[in-house]
Amino acid sequence: MADYVIVGGGSSGSALAGRLAEAGAGKVVVLEAGPPDRNPLIHIPAGFVKLLDSKLLYHYQTEKQKDLAGRAPIMPQGAVLGGGGSVNAAIYIRGQRNDYDVWAAEGADGWSYSEVLPYFKRAEGNDRLSDAYHNADGPLGVSDLRQITDLTRAFVRSAQEAGIPFTSDFNGVRQRGVGFNQTTTRNGRRCSAAVAYLRPALKTGNLEIRTGCLVTRVLLEGDRAVGVEYVQGGRVQKVMADREVILSAGGIQTPKLLMLSGIGPEAELRKHGIALKVRLEGVGQNLQDHCEFPAIRFCTGRHGYFGEDSFLRSIKNGLQYMLFKCGPVMSNVTEACAFVNVDDMEAEPNVQMHFVPIVFMDSDQEQVKRAGATINPCVLRPESRGEVRLRNADPAAHPIIDPRYLSHPEDMRLSIKALKMARSILGQKSFAPFVEAREAYPGPDIRDEAALDRYIRSKGKTVYHPVGTCRMGRDDMAVVDPELRVHGVRNLRVVDNSVMPRLISGNTNAPAIMIGEKASDIIRGVDPLPRLNA
Ligand SMILES: Cc1cc2nc3c(=O)[nH]c(=O)nc-3n(C[C@H](O)[C@H](O)[C@H](O)COP(=O)(O)OP(=O)(O)OC[C@H]3O[C@@H](n4cnc5c(N)ncnc54)[C@H](O)[C@@H]3O)c2cc1C
Repeated sequence: MADYVIVGGGSSGSALAGRLAEAGAGKVVVLEAGPPDRNPLIHIPAGFVKLLDSKLLYHYQTEKQKDLAGRAPIMPQGAVLGGGGSVNAAIYIRGQRNDYDVWAAEGADGWSYSEVLPYFKRAEGNDRLSDAYHNADGPLGVSDLRQITDLTRAFVRSAQEAGIPFTSDFNGVRQRGVGFNQTTTRNGRRCSAAVAYLRPALKTGNLEIRTGCLVTRVLLEGDRAVGVEYVQGGRVQKVMADREVILSAGGIQTPKLLMLSGIGPEAELRKHGIALKVRLEGVGQNLQDHCEFPAIRFCTGRHGYFGEDSFLRSIKNGLQYMLFKCGPVMSNVTEACAFVNVDDMEAEPNVQMHFVPIVFMDSDQEQVKRAGATINPCVLRPESRGEVRLRNADPAAHPIIDPRYLSHPEDMRLSIKALKMARSILGQKSFAPFVEAREAYPGPDIRDEAALDRYIRSKGKTVYHPVGTCRMGRDDMAVVDPELRVHGVRNLRVVDNSVMPRLISGNTNAPAIMIGEKASDIIRGVDPLPRLNA
């Protein structure tokens, strides 16, 4: 018997479990479907690209996307202790003040910017910044990159030449600008939430982590969650929770688990022969993800990281990393970003551009073996909404994922403007010594709006940020209340990115950790940290 059973040891679940255990709130059991985070590639910054095709991720495939030319792109998600935070590109971004103020205005009381900032800060152990927005001594290592390629520096200069001002901090007063990413690393090693929170909390004796445990449903007695059933090594087992069951299985798996447990849309459960326990029509709805598409130029020579993973170079780079903590292995590969408003350069950003100093496309897309520079823009607050549904009643089956990428015309309007800006950055003078004069993608023939529209639909892909499928709020379609309790069920909460009412403007790991941090205070019943009006 545990006091708290947490399903999923990903970014939110690890932060929550660590805080509950450290606070002596009771016995905490984390059930993680994936393996422990022992693979050495997890812990080196450059591991991200190598891990993308590995077994440490779920390789979901979406439904055919009508607005992506009928393609069904992949949507990789973390499937290992530490979740997405163990396999991601480690970019540390929080989003904009207004993201959270809109959450609060739409019913997520307590989640305005001034109320979440203290939790971002409590988490953060920044190696450069310590001010009204930042903290230096939290458990989550956040560091400047120690390795940046010349090609990335050329991007940062070129974006300025295209009119985007330089910023040294995307997470401070304003997000706007181009600059180098800070990453969730410490001393040259990845700092996932599992590393930051779970490992230290194990010493308290209040925490037990069970890996390789696929949770199959929440056990309910009447309207009360009392435990979960899971499969480990082919055996069905149970663990009971004296106080609460907390679902932290991420934006795709958490709604699936609720539905498998009889909590969800009535017709959907009936279709799969699952007895309805609590009717919640919003479960699995409101799926949002960022959708990116590349502007690429090939390099004139050996620039960026192309070829750095060849046999001989891997040995050299590995030795350089082990002996001197420098070189390409120290890079998270995605070293710089730009945040820009493509309608009004002075306004708060509506587009993010990731710069990757290689030709970068997902594994289900064209694989080009040449050195190149990729700018991947995406619309920060997409209007398109999709859904997650059950494929069948088998807990091991991947659910139906239909993000409906670019189904809203506003997303396409902004995407076209973003692509135009990305290609203009690649054409600036600071890129000239590194890249060919001819554009590789979309290519010089793709000029008018109709052609750009077709190109974007042919290349659109996930930025790996599915959120919103168990939305917080007080209306009929909300799944959890602002204290993250599942409506209509006692002792059951959701603590992960599925509670986001709207996708935030940026990468979603730091917000997932913030959600875990804030949830730990809510669950313990302590006063929230004082607002910070920075
Ligand atoms: C390839 C990739 C690159 C990314 N790059 C970045 C980046 O650079 N910066 C950034 O900020 N964000 C990035 N992200 C996104 C970020 O990592 C995620 O948004 C974040 O980790 C989500 O946190 P979460 O707690 O909601 O879910 P997750 O971290 O996904 O955790 C869910 C956990 O639950 C487990 N689980 C699922 N189902 C079950 C079950 N039935 N039983 C038991 N356990 C279960 C999973 O194995 C997983 O460990 C990236 C994600 C990916 C996949």
